[in-house]
Amino acid sequence: MAAGSGSLMWFRKGLRIHDNPALEYASKGSSFMYPVFVIDPHYMEPDPSAFSPGSTRAGINRIRFLLESLVDLDLNLKKLGSRLLVLKGEPSQVLTHCLKEWNVKKLCFEYDTEPYYQALDRSVKDYASSAGIEVFSPVSHTLFNPADIIEKNGGSPPRSYQSFLKLAGEPSWVSSPLSIRVSSLPPVGDVGSCEVSQVPTMEELGYVDNDQDELTPFRGGESEALKRMTESLSNKDWVANFEKPKGDPSAYLKPATTVLSPYLKFGCLSSRYFYQCLKGVYKNVKRHTLPPVSLGGQLLWRDFFYTVAFGTPNFAQMKGNGICKQIPWNDDEQLLAAWRDAKTGYPWIDAIMVQLRKWGWMHHLARHCVACFLTRGDLFVHWEKGRDVFERLLIDSDWAINNGNWLWLSCSSFFYQYNRIYSPISFGKKYDPKGNYIRHFLPILKDMPDEYIYEPWTAPLSIQTKAKCIIGRDYPKPG
Ligand SMILES: Cc1cc2nc3c(=O)[nH]c(=O)nc-3n(C[C@H](O)[C@H](O)[C@H](O)COP(=O)(O)OP(=O)(O)OC[C@H]3O[C@@H](n4cnc5c(N)ncnc54)[C@H](O)[C@@H]3O)c2cc1C
Repeated sequence: MAAGSGSLMWFRKGLRIHDNPALEYASKGSSFMYPVFVIDPHYMEPDPSAFSPGSTRAGINRIRFLLESLVDLDLNLKKLGSRLLVLKGEPSQVLTHCLKEWNVKKLCFEYDTEPYYQALDRSVKDYASSAGIEVFSPVSHTLFNPADIIEKNGGSPPRSYQSFLKLAGEPSWVSSPLSIRVSSLPPVGDVGSCEVSQVPTMEELGYVDNDQDELTPFRGGESEALKRMTESLSNKDWVANFEKPKGDPSAYLKPATTVLSPYLKFGCLSSRYFYQCLKGVYKNVKRHTLPPVSLGGQLLWRDFFYTVAFGTPNFAQMKGNGICKQIPWNDDEQLLAAWRDAKTGYPWIDAIMVQLRKWGWMHHLARHCVACFLTRGDLFVHWEKGRDVFERLLIDSDWAINNGNWLWLSCSSFFYQYNRIYSPISFGKKYDPKGNYIRHFLPILKDMPDEYIYEPWTAPLSIQTKAKCIIGRDYPKPG
């Protein structure tokens, strides 16, 4: 048991030093501080029965991204005189044990609006309060506090982006400096009998023979996040003229958007810092695009979905969800498997699904295409099934945003023009007539001539033979 006044900083998301009010409060006036991350085996350990390499809940790319983010956090903490303590087990049990063992006066963690954390945090808070430990849990994952917006709207969340914007206005902190640079942190106290380890490697978690040939090119961590944000914002023209619907979903060597989503998901990047830096760029250009299509508008979409998700009971399902149209979707496992395993026979759709599996990230419009195809566009499979596949495989998998967008794309909520369908053939062709994106993610089609690359089943057999890809044998025919 350590002497003096100590604190426990519990990292979950918010895996960063900059703009981290919970960390700031934990370190203030504390003679020692325990920075903790709890590895929940359910989330992290291999599950060979899952449909892709990974744990029960997460694909291998996201697990790796998280470990990289933790390694970076540990390095950054070490530079400030601290380090990350990794614990293992069911989080509330582990936390309660440590709170009992370590003589801390303050427990600090970022507020989380997801149902999983709401339940977990309630039990941890209850224990802390009963033990006389102060709990500090600020909102810092989003630009606004979703509860404030809901209150301003009379107790229910706004149903449209425009009404959200009106209620939200400018964030109160936007022109005051955020706490970005930290010069030192209190030392770590004695860990006593708590089993503390370093950040494990993938191998230590049991991921020994991963047979996935191509993994995501995006590396996790706050350092990478800040570098990526700085690079994106350094191109002022690009930022000023950013219009989301005009981006090219087939651009994969240099994606058309920032690819900051996985960093925002894990909180390696503060959305507030990103927004403030963005405002700095806008101030220095003659004109810039506006919400909903601008880059700032994208961050506001994120907050919009967080707010609606937080204030809508049963948001993640159709049943009992008051804002979700009740639609008789089918539960056809074969159709779902063909979509999930990139075997629909439509190269544009299948290439996107391969990018999802290999990279865990695709452009927003590519996500539109495959979500539309699975649901209202072609297969009429339940959006919850597609949501589950995205939830597992995306490196930026985010409870509020993923569910919100699936509700949108299936025309279950927010958007109802169900006859506006993305063609699985002509949509991709507009951006990439030679099919370079398809050739990269579906190499079986790499020698198919340009004119057949989006519809290979229309190629004469002689052409299929020459391209070493017989449709129906080497690559499926659309059903
Ligand atoms: C079916 C479907 C599922 C999706 N699931 C997720 C998900 O699980 N996690 C996720 O972060 N995004 C999700 N999106 C939204 C969007 O596609 C991604 O946020 C975006 O493609 C990430 O790339 P980026 O960081 O380069 O985006 P940028 O265009 O650079 O935007 C910057 C940031 O704004 C936010 N943002 C952008 N678009 C949206 C949007 N439509 N809704 C809410 N926030 C947005 C993201 O945090 C993003 O990082 C989904 C979209 C669809 C259609």
